[in-house]
This record gives sequence, structure tokens and C-alpha cells, in this order.
Amino acid sequence: MLVICGRNVYVNHYLYAPTHHKHSKCTVRTNTRNQMEISGLDNTGRQFKNPDEMWKQEIGDSQKKVDWYRNGVGYWQGVEASMDGVLGGYGHVNEPDINSSEAFLSTLLNEFFPNAGRNQHLVALDCGSGIGRVTKNLLIRYFNEVDLLEPVSHFLEAARENLSPENLSVSEEHKAANFYCTPLQEFTPDAGRYDVIWVQWCIGHLADDDFVSFFKRAKAGLKPGGLFVLKENLARSGFVLDNDDKSITRSHVYFKELFSQCDLIIHNMKDQKGFPNELFPVRMYALTTETVKRVSSSRPKRHSNRPGIIK
Ligand code: SAH
Repeated sequence: MLVICGRNVYVNHYLYAPTHHKHSKCTVRTNTRNQMEISGLDNTGRQFKNPDEMWKQEIGDSQKKVDWYRNGVGYWQGVEASMDGVLGGYGHVNEPDINSSEAFLSTLLNEFFPNAGRNQHLVALDCGSGIGRVTKNLLIRYFNEVDLLEPVSHFLEAARENLSPENLSVSEEHKAANFYCTPLQEFTPDAGRYDVIWVQWCIGHLADDDFVSFFKRAKAGLKPGGLFVLKENLARSGFVLDNDDKSITRSHVYFKELFSQCDLIIHNMKDQKGFPNELFPVRMYALTTETVKRVSSSRPKRHSNRPGIIK
């Protein structure tokens, strides 16, 4: 068994040739109750007809839901505050991870914030930040302020240390500003503070209802024209429940259904390259609250009058 970010990766037929989908393309059908018909598995091989069946088992009453989140955070409380710790023993994927994220982010910044670095003060939120790996290696170089949100206090303390001015090699115009020791499902950002909300390798801890309500609340935390970047493991189809760390790995189809419930639009997406084969595929999504025309030379005029289409 191999583990990344607490998600157990089974090098067996479940993930790589899932028997329940071997001969059929996984599609999501939404029935009259708006219930997703996507089948899934857990790490003991148990099959679920659909997410509802799994969520009923895991968070079917309020005590179970408390336990789901307590066990999720509890898992990470037992993990060392190090690169290897937050990357499930795969510290060496930090470099390809950051390189791909940087390529993705810089394309987005050119497109959305062409004045960044000149006169635009950019602010980001790093969700489920762990020890501040993504902020330290990437976000702090592009954003003037980065806030970190992390429910595990020894990770957040390590982040505070890693990002203290004496441990950073960026100018004084770039700093880690606020450290919030809170889980995503309980967090409401300050209105209109962020240009980018970065969510990497933590959304699997959120049940679907909390996923949707988190993004709905977090939208109000974006500046006009701001966006989310979600970077996550992908199940090849359906979903995979990890009973050890209480997280779920969703498929692209599953994510798309949740994005639509959040009224979020996939502006752009890119697959991570260069990770060991035994790991889940990883995808980066840029999510916006409205359709954004692709303009790279100047700031997109999303809020001005546009020529109307004569129908
Ligand atoms: N994003 C970081 C850390 C990934 S490890 C990185 O890429 O390096 C997964 C992180 O999710 C851990 O720090 C864990 O504490 C955090 N996490 C677990 N449950 C969470 C929740 N409910 N809300 C926010 N973060 C959570």
C-alpha cells in the first residue's frame, strides 16, 4: 500500500482497472432526486452504488459527521510536520508539483492580473496549507500577502516558522499575513479579500454538502475577477473512500457535478505530469464564478458592457 497525502493508493485492480466500470464508460446520471449515480469503493474493496449510500454510512447522523471530521484531522495530527509528512512519504514530488503549479498559475496571472507586480497588490489564501509548502515554494513569490488556513495546529505552527521573514527569500512586499487554525467547513473568508483561493490536497476531507457550502461562502471572499485553483487527486471513475484518513478521492465527473452545484465554471484545467505511476492522477482546475473571455494582452473587461448577440 502506498500513501500520498493520506490517501491510500492501491496498486491493484480497484484503481487501475476498476471491475465495476471495466466495460462501461463512467457517466453521471442525475435522477429525479438529483442524486448522483456514480459508484465507488473504499479501501477494503467494499462497493457503493452511489455517493449517497457511502455518505449515509459515513455521515448519516450528526454524531457520525462529527466523527468523520474528527478522524480526518486526527489522522493528520499523528503525522510529522515535514515535507515527507504532508506528502505521504513522497517528499520528492514537491518539485514536479510546484513546477506544474507555477506554469498553471503564471498563465492564469497573465490572463487575469496582467498588472501584477506593477501596481496590483495580490492576495491569496492557501487552504489546507499543511506546513506552508505551497505558500513557501510558490504563492509567496507571486502574491503580496498569503493567508494560510490549516486545522492541524502543529502544521500551522511549522508553517508560521517556515514563513517567518528570516526564513523567506522574498522582498518585504511579500509576506504570510494571517494564519487560521480552522477547517474549511467552518471557515468564512473576509469579503472581497482574495485574488486567488488555492485549495490543494484537502478538499477530499469535505463531505459533498460542506464542499458546496464552502465554495459558495468562499466566493464572497474573492475580489471581483478573482478565482479558485483546485489541485486534487482524481479517481479514474466514481470515487474512492479512504477509511484511514476519512477522505474521498473523486472522479472528474463527480467534481463537475459539485462545481455545477456551486455555480462554478471550469475556466481551465491541466493534468499534473511527472508523478510516479502508482499515484492517483492529479488535476489542476481554475474555477471562476462567471464565464471569463480569454484575453491575455489586457485585463479582461468582464464587467463592462459587451456587444449583445442578436438572436
Ligand atoms: N496543501 C498542503 C497539505 C496537503 S496534506 C500541501 O499540498 O502541501 C492535507 C492537508 O489537509 C493537511 O494539512 C490536513 O491537516 C488538511 N486537512 C484535513 N482536513 C481538513 C479540513 N477539514 N479542512 C482543511 N484542511 C484539512
